Formats: sequence, structure tokens, C-alpha cells
Amino acid sequence: SAQLMLDVRVAPLRAQHVLLLVEDRTHARRVEEIRRDFVVNVSHELKTPVSGLTLLAEAMDEARDDSEAVHRFAGRMQVETTRLARLVQEIVDLSRLQVDDAIDEPVLVDVRQCAKEAVGHLQLLATDKGITVTTALGDPHLPAQVYGDPNLITTALRNLVENAVNYSDSDTRVSVTVHAGSDFVSVLVKDQGTGIPPAELDRIFERFYRMDAARSRRTGGTGLGLAIVKHVCANHGGEVTVWSEPGQGSTFTVRLPTAQPVPPTPPVIPDTQ
Ligand code: ADP
Repeated sequence: SAQLMLDVRVAPLRAQHVLLLVEDRTHARRVEEIRRDFVVNVSHELKTPVSGLTLLAEAMDEARDDSEAVHRFAGRMQVETTRLARLVQEIVDLSRLQVDDAIDEPVLVDVRQCAKEAVGHLQLLATDKGITVTTALGDPHLPAQVYGDPNLITTALRNLVENAVNYSDSDTRVSVTVHAGSDFVSVLVKDQGTGIPPAELDRIFERFYRMDAARSRRTGGTGLGLAIVKHVCANHGGEVTVWSEPGQGSTFTVRLPTAQPVPPTPPVIPDTQ
């Protein structure tokens, strides 16, 4: 019976080891797959603007005696170059964010300040489109602070506000609301735009996924914005969620863990002997 007991104890132990090993291999394979997919996607996405630029350069050369045409092609080249630069920047940002320890030195971040900056960047675009952006930052006496990287948080909020403006028609409103809770600081970005069908809600956070590639392209979208938002939130120990109703609009909510106040250090009593 002693022999039997030993066997029983060893068997589950072995099973656990085997299980861990399998899980580890699967994880490694998954990481490798993600990396490979990313490289394939990136090269595909880069080809479009690069071939566009090549064609424009050729057209410009052929039209060299027609100064008006040259001017027009030069303008289009500038648009393409700007888009390409943004794409490259976002690819670099995302590949850094996909590594778990993307934030090397977290600092205390005022989320209200990030929200203000994010909205500030898009005010002009919104006004041009006839969209009113309102901000409700909440009671300024309640700190809305998290630990992390202020630039990344601003970038994430900016991507959400930019989408809200891009996927809405004129004469609509976009609102940005900050809630400072004891556990989480939340930022809600609400629009009255096209909305997102339920089947697409998960997919929109995938890299390079767009519901309407032509529309996204017209607005200079890269398809990376929401993937960046998702990774920025995850890197801060938070999350991003979405509620949407086609034809009604969408609300994206970012929730980041509130920075807990450090307990006061006891006073140091001088040692006078
Ligand atoms: P893009 O550069 O195309 O905007 P994102 O990753 O930011 O890329 O968004 C992915 C897709 O999700 C968009 O192409 C669009 O179809 C959809 N989307 C994102 N935000 C909104 C929104 N506020 N309203 C409607 N659709 C949205």
C-alpha cells in the first residue's frame, strides 16, 4: 500500500510537469506567430504608400514641363509622405508596446492633463469638420493620477478622440469625461458617429483591422490606433472597453489603476544622545 500511495502522488506531479511544458511551448509558438504575422502585415502595409510615392514621382517626371501638374503631384506626395511617416512611427510604437516592460520608469501622471492635451491636438480637425468636442474633467481637488508614461497615455487618448472625430458626421458632439475613482481613473470618449456592429467590436482592436479600409485611408488612418490604445492600457495594468450602437455612436472607456497615496513617513527624531 505504501508503493501504491507513492505512485498516486507522483503521477499528478508528472502530469503537472508535462502540462507546464506544453503550455510553455504553446506560448513560445504563439509569440513567434504574432511576430511573424506582424512582419507580414507591416511589409504589406508599407508597400501601398511606397508604390504610391513611386508612381507620383514618375508622373511628376513626365509632367515636368507642366508646372501646375508638378505642383499638384508634389502636394499629393507630401500627403503620402506624412501618412508613411505616421505609419512608421506607429509601427515602432506598437512593436515597443508589445513587449511587456515597455514603461521603464513610471512616473506620477495627471490623467486630466493628458486628456486636455489629447483634445487640444484635435480641436482644429474637429472644428473643420463641424464637430463640437466638450471635456468634463471632474472635481480638480480629487487627484486623477496613475503611475506610468504620460506620453503614452496622451497618445492613447488622442487616438480615441481622433477616431471619435473621424467616424462622426458634422453637427455632432464628442465628449471626453474623466472620472477619478479610488481604484480606477476612467476616461470616457463618447461620439454620435457611425457606430460599430457587434460582430466587429472585438476585431477593431486588432492590428491593421479596419471596418472600412477606404474610409480609414481617407482620414489618414493606419489601422494601428486602437491596437496602440489596447497595449498602452495593458502596460499600465488597465483596460479599454467599448460600447457601441450602429447609427447611434460609440463610447470607448479607458480604465487605469489609480496611483495610491504613499503613507506619510514617520518623523525622524534626531538622536541627541
Ligand atoms: P484607423 O486608423 O483605421 O482609425 P483604429 O485602430 O484606430 O484604425 O480603428 C480601427 C477601426 O475601428 C477603424 O478603421 C474603424 O472602422 C473602427 N472605429 C474605431 N473607432 C471608431 C469610432 N469611434 N466609431 C466608429 N468606428 C470606429
